Amino acid sequence: MENLVVRAETIIKNNQLRLTKQRRSLINLLVHQPDHYLDITMVDRQMRELYPGISHNTIYRNLEEFEELGLVEITQRSNCRAVKFSCADGTHQHHHHFICQKCGRVQEIQMPKWPSDFYEQQLPGAQITGHSFELYGLCAQCSRQQTSK
Ligand SMILES: [Zn+2]
Ligand SMILES: [Zn+2]
Ligand SMILES: [Zn+2]
Repeated sequence: MENLVVRAETIIKNNQLRLTKQRRSLINLLVHQPDHYLDITMVDRQMRELYPGISHNTIYRNLEEFEELGLVEITQRSNCRAVKFSCADGTHQHHHHFICQKCGRVQEIQMPKWPSDFYEQQLPGAQITGHSFELYGLCAQCSRQQTSK
């Protein structure tokens, strides 16, 4: 966990961003559960408790900057956006997730090469510009707990 903080702070400095108290607090919030998505509204609320004067915009902007640096991953949930510490080492690599529906733990998974031909054939004339893909289920730990009951 310490390492994650150090890594995040190094990336921020290397990218000529100022390591403000607010950015530091954001990192500390996210690093508590680096493998779980947090609702951005919750992050926003916690930040405003720490810094009553801070605007929503500043918080969101900071998170977007972090995303650009590959520090965090932001995903669109049905009713809000959620953010988590990046799985990979901040290299911004495209990857996929397995998300536990019980405890919310997110694990990085490898996929076979994406078969874009397969989809292009079904969408003649269209241009595919990206995709997102998530697997859901019970993580090993939750699965064990369920069977041991
Ligand atoms: Zn990830
Ligand atoms: Zn992919
Ligand atoms: Zn689980």
